[in-house]
Amino acid sequence: MKLSDEQTAVREMVRKFAQTEIEPRAAAIDRDDEFPWDVYAQLGDLGLLGLSAPEEHGGGGGDNLTHVIALEEVAKASGTAGNAMLLAKLQTDFLTRCATPEQASTYLPDMIAGRRICLICVTEPGAGSDVQGVRTTAVRDGDHFVLDGTKAFMTCGTVGDVAVVLARTDPTAGSRGMTTFLVEKSRDGDPRNGFVIDHKDDLMGLRGLGTAGIAFAGTRVPAANVLGVVGDGFKNVMKSFDNGRIYIATLALGLAQRAFEESVAYARDRRVRDAPIADFQGVQFMLSDMSVEIEAARLLIHRAAELKDAGADFTLAAAHAKLYASDVAQRVTTNAVQVHGGFGYTKEAVVERLYRDAKLTQIYEGTNQVQRVIIARHILKAS
Ligand SMILES: Cc1cc2nc3c(=O)[nH]c(=O)nc-3n(C[C@H](O)[C@H](O)[C@H](O)COP(=O)(O)OP(=O)(O)OC[C@H]3O[C@@H](n4cnc5c(N)ncnc54)[C@H](O)[C@@H]3O)c2cc1C
Repeated sequence: MKLSDEQTAVREMVRKFAQTEIEPRAAAIDRDDEFPWDVYAQLGDLGLLGLSAPEEHGGGGGDNLTHVIALEEVAKASGTAGNAMLLAKLQTDFLTRCATPEQASTYLPDMIAGRRICLICVTEPGAGSDVQGVRTTAVRDGDHFVLDGTKAFMTCGTVGDVAVVLARTDPTAGSRGMTTFLVEKSRDGDPRNGFVIDHKDDLMGLRGLGTAGIAFAGTRVPAANVLGVVGDGFKNVMKSFDNGRIYIATLALGLAQRAFEESVAYARDRRVRDAPIADFQGVQFMLSDMSVEIEAARLLIHRAAELKDAGADFTLAAAHAKLYASDVAQRVTTNAVQVHGGFGYTKEAVVERLYRDAKLTQIYEGTNQVQRVIIARHILKAS
């Protein structure tokens, strides 16, 4: 696919920045499991958190394809930095779509600049794939709503200070009985004043994001913080998931591309019986398969981003991209460890981290089984 001169320039700029500023930090972020505030501030300063956000709120006003191209480069350097960047993208899009002008001007400039991080709080201990199973309640009390419930696996849960929360406002109305709210973090630890952290998760991969369970208990939220329309919460979240799938796919692509590059370099370098392992057909075939699958994943992702930029329906294209790119990331990182032999199984090898990071892309923003359900629904509806 031919990129415009501007897209090529953005890719080169972000690649250079990611290689010099993010890549050297990636192993420590993973090892120490600490949120990389310095890297996040740089992403904000460079305009990468709001690359395609509205200019009136400090964004770059760019297109989704350019955003995807930039994210691939950041994800190649560090999956954690890529995931933080994509959360900012999804949440600025959510607010751009659903927020009132007052809400937008309160939150968007800070989110785009990297001064505030906004969570997306959908999943609960008893409701993941089944979003309609959400049990967190929001009960009207005068000019407030009172929230009660817990949310599980919140990306940036320990570092974010505002959240988009899906809660049930009408227990009798199924998916139409759900509403999205903007909820601030409690500043004093009292759950009546905002969300509180329940526990931090100790993750296998994509570490350093402060992923956490959070809780509400008698949490009072002004009615002015309803995000969108009461009863539209489920719809709002589904639209965000469609968008998110393009970007999770891009994170997967960045991880796969890096694993491929590491594998090519290692195959040239590592010698067995006085010859590089790249001379073995068995190794060459692994590299060939990686290259084909990565290229195909990139095309699916760019197509989904272009459909979104054109204002066309991109639900199916996003599911195709997410399903395929994350499965490719899983296969490519597995074979990248294989190419590296025993060294690939040590913490010294970059591919060991990529292998752990890639797994999550098959699970969140709708598992890959759920993507197949979505795709089948489209196929059968169309025929
Ligand atoms: C590190 C991490 C970060 C996350 N970040 C966030 C976040 O920021 N915000 C947020 O809201 N959520 C987040 N999540 C939650 C994530 O989206 C869910 O874990 C995911 O949707 C799966 O839900 P579950 O864990 O409850 O699994 P379950 O829904 O219990 O699924 C278990 C298994 O059953 C399968 N299954 C379930 N339903 C079906 C079906 N209908 N057809 C076929 N198979 C099915 C699944 O594919 C899976 O294999 C995160 C999760 C993790 C691990």
